[in-house]
Amino acid sequence: MTEQRVAVVTGAARGIGAATAERLARDGFAVAVLDLDEAACEEVAGRIRDGGGSAVGVGVDVADAAAVAAGVARVADELGPPVVLVNNAGIIRDNLLFKMTEDDWDAVMGVHLKGSFLMTKACQAHMTEQRYGRIVNLSSSSAQGNRGQANYSAAKAGLQGFTKTLAIELGKFGVTANAVAPGFIQTDMTRATAERLKVSFEDFITHTAAQIPVARVGQPEDIAATISFLVSEEAGFVSGQVVYVAGGPLD
Ligand code: NAP
Repeated sequence: MTEQRVAVVTGAARGIGAATAERLARDGFAVAVLDLDEAACEEVAGRIRDGGGSAVGVGVDVADAAAVAAGVARVADELGPPVVLVNNAGIIRDNLLFKMTEDDWDAVMGVHLKGSFLMTKACQAHMTEQRYGRIVNLSSSSAQGNRGQANYSAAKAGLQGFTKTLAIELGKFGVTANAVAPGFIQTDMTRATAERLKVSFEDFITHTAAQIPVARVGQPEDIAATISFLVSEEAGFVSGQVVYVAGGPLD
């Protein structure tokens, strides 16, 4: 039997990350489910194992260098060298600029930018050694600017530059790097936005869907399917790209 390739998905206890972990397991990867709460990770990993896949749940704060080093070492030990990395962990600390605190700024930069940097640095060591790798970073349509999200939009635009640089540096080792930039996806994150705007989640979805060309909001599985392609072996000539998955044209 050929050995299973190992994929790491961060922020995978729920939302887009959980859907991606489950999708990659169905695609044949052994999956490391990383998130802040190890018990929540284990729930997703358990579902994967119940379905006949291989998975391990690992509690890691991606913004913490020591935790990242220990977590990636544990993945390599328990599953094998990670050759696929999906940097998905994310938070929002939305506010208009004049009300945004330094903590709001630092927290968002810490998880999205520093977290992706630390995770990528730890995993690329395995990828370059294996002469094979696939990295996908979660950007956002908010990278183009979004009211109340100065911190988040800056981080998500930053991830696009980070992705292109990874593609340039790592290509010769057989490693590709791409970004997926979702539009509105129905998860706890968009539910929190509805709460901040003081509208019901249902009304928020209906109102948003009316502005999207395909006339619906996105589901975590829409993003997981796109990531599934980008981490596949046959996507080896696609690198440094930003794929907007938003139900309509954005660039
Ligand atoms: P979500 O439901 O809020 O899930 C995010 C996950 O990341 C949570 O499980 C969270 O853990 C985890 N996380 C937060 N900080 C972390 C850290 N320091 N270390 C490890 N894990 C951490 O969000 P989502 O909607 O699925 O979003 C996933 C990604 O897609 C994010 O990068 C987000 O910015 C991006 N995105 C989402 C949308 C959308 O419409 N939903 C659109 C564009 C881009 P806790 O639950 O313990 O906090």
